[in-house]
Amino acid sequence: MFIGHYGAAFAGKIVSFPGGKKSRKPSLGTLFLATQFLDVLWPVFILLGIEKIAITNSANTFLNVQFLYYPFSHSLAGSVVWSLLFAFVYYIIRRNVKYSLLCGVLVLSHWVLDLISHIPDLQIIPGIELRVGLGLWNSEVLTVIIEGLIFTAGIYLYFRSTTAKNKRGWITLWGLIIFLIIAYITSIFSPAPPSVNAIGYAGLSQWLIIAWGYWIDRNRSN
Ligand SMILES: [Zn+2]
Repeated sequence: MFIGHYGAAFAGKIVSFPGGKKSRKPSLGTLFLATQFLDVLWPVFILLGIEKIAITNSANTFLNVQFLYYPFSHSLAGSVVWSLLFAFVYYIIRRNVKYSLLCGVLVLSHWVLDLISHIPDLQIIPGIELRVGLGLWNSEVLTVIIEGLIFTAGIYLYFRSTTAKNKRGWITLWGLIIFLIIAYITSIFSPAPPSVNAIGYAGLSQWLIIAWGYWIDRNRSN
């Protein structure tokens, strides 16, 4: 799943806890980092050779990459650990228990959405071979519909939660929405990636989207 995770991040902005000065909601960039945290770790682990993927040249574009071994970034147990760690670091920086819990839940949401989309390749616990995945990816059409709906719902909730403080708050947001849609469509119609390392380096480019999230947030109401 790709833009679905960003949909979950956009939706996160609707969560609001009353409070004083410390009650500022997490930045959109932080929400992006949370929902994509496992996919931010994963390219690094791939490039370091800690986790393993293979390119399959499947007729189904969503099955072009075979996830052979990725228990540290994408097992359920691993995800829970990353989620707790993320929430803890957020708490250390912002001192807000409720929003740190929200960030932790969003980190875990990545695994849940991946569970829905992946074929059974997600381990529950590293070292135990049992693998799960509900296989939405088996149907390209259904994947695009479900992922598109999650993305659209997230954008809708985001628009209900924030307003542009200036022109930039409007342009940067729409720029990102259009960019993500084009990137998604391009990824569907692209041939299989040329190499494992190319996938790793492409994965690292997600940091640009996270930075873009911080940029948008600075120009919109909280
Ligand atoms: Zn993932």
